[in-house]
Amino acid sequence: MRSGLSVADAQRTVLGAAEVLPAETVAADRAEGRVLAEAVVSTRTLPPADNSAMDGWAVRAADLAVARDGAPVALRIAFEVAAGEVASRALATGEAARIFTGAPIPPDADTIVRQEDAERDGDRVRVAFAPARGSHVRPAGEDVRTGDRVLDAGAVLSPAALGLLVSLGRSVVSVRQRPRVALLSSGDELVEPDTEPSGGRIVSSNSYTLAAQCRLAGAEPVYLGIARDTPVALEERLRAGLRADVLVSSAGVSVGDRDYVRPVLEKLGCTLLFWGVEMKPGYPLVFGRFGEKGPLVFGLPGNPVSAMVTFEQFVRPLLRKLSGHTALFRPTVRATLLHPLEKSAGRAHFVRVHLERRGGRDGEIVARTTGTQSSGALRSMALAQGLLVFPAEATLLRAGESAIVQVLDDGFFAATEPGF
Ligand code: AMP
Ligand code: MG
Repeated sequence: MRSGLSVADAQRTVLGAAEVLPAETVAADRAEGRVLAEAVVSTRTLPPADNSAMDGWAVRAADLAVARDGAPVALRIAFEVAAGEVASRALATGEAARIFTGAPIPPDADTIVRQEDAERDGDRVRVAFAPARGSHVRPAGEDVRTGDRVLDAGAVLSPAALGLLVSLGRSVVSVRQRPRVALLSSGDELVEPDTEPSGGRIVSSNSYTLAAQCRLAGAEPVYLGIARDTPVALEERLRAGLRADVLVSSAGVSVGDRDYVRPVLEKLGCTLLFWGVEMKPGYPLVFGRFGEKGPLVFGLPGNPVSAMVTFEQFVRPLLRKLSGHTALFRPTVRATLLHPLEKSAGRAHFVRVHLERRGGRDGEIVARTTGTQSSGALRSMALAQGLLVFPAEATLLRAGESAIVQVLDDGFFAATEPGF
């Protein structure tokens, strides 16, 4: 087993072990955010027929060729077509049909005159200009033609894509399965959140943070509870997770006397691929797999922020790959540091930072830490919008220097003003 990997090497190993999950068929109205497993070829034309873009009058442009201001042409109102109807007959020369938005253009009509551009007078309508042929007509197939490939496999289903699918008659679609993630916490000190901790106990916050991170990554967490710090207890709980796509345990992977996760995983038949990544927080991270078919396994460090940060760097990209996504990583921005940061060389640091855009919409982004960077301090993580990457070999980042920040919080891109 390798140890002491760089973040990039560890990511490569994790993603190299993953294959996209099989497809499943789901109802289109429940498929937002899912990744298409099929290309969608249209069997329909959209819109199905030439139709009116306006409320007004369907006419033959040739009838109005001589119309002009002060010399209107009067057309005889022949019939009416509302949305959802079709014209009962073709339009004859000298006629206009009353028409509404979305209604099909009657045969032999070619142009729409808007209601506000014409004047009705009893059974006639007067038009005092010569409209261009085809005005305000939405041609059949302007959106989609039969045989068009409208969505490729790999497309992420947006609300618009789902609207398109149902317009084409697709009420069910083939999408990639969502990964099921078995989540285990371990430690004699841990209690479930509804218990008042006393006598050295603490609440198992990892059970909540990691489940939420799974759901936001589009995966389905299955909670296995808290295992006591004995090999037997761990083995029993871990076994319950062997049918998941990914097994994520936290704590018990360090070098303490009661850190049994690694030996127990090996006993259960897991091949450990690496232990230890040169990063802070999060060094003691183990990754492995159960044969070709079994789950991929992470033993994340127990400290709440270490668990979250390692989830971000390794588990989330893996879950996205399993789900069929090709964009696996968080967006990054360049930010100017408001104060210096120092560390020793060797490990990459992921520094919890608050981000702010200075001087308007196109202004620079500035970053400052959100408080103590202790691996267990969740408050500074809760306040962070991003993780500033302090590269492994760097030892000093000066105030005013720019650094890459991985943006964790979509809220950073949200705005309090419309901005236009
Ligand atoms: P360990 O890796 O077992 O040595 O745990 C490292 C630190 O993380 C210890 O301070 C644990 O109490 C803490 N820890 C472990 N698991 C959890 C959890 N599920 N929730 C909150 N803190 C935890
Ligand atoms: Mg422990």
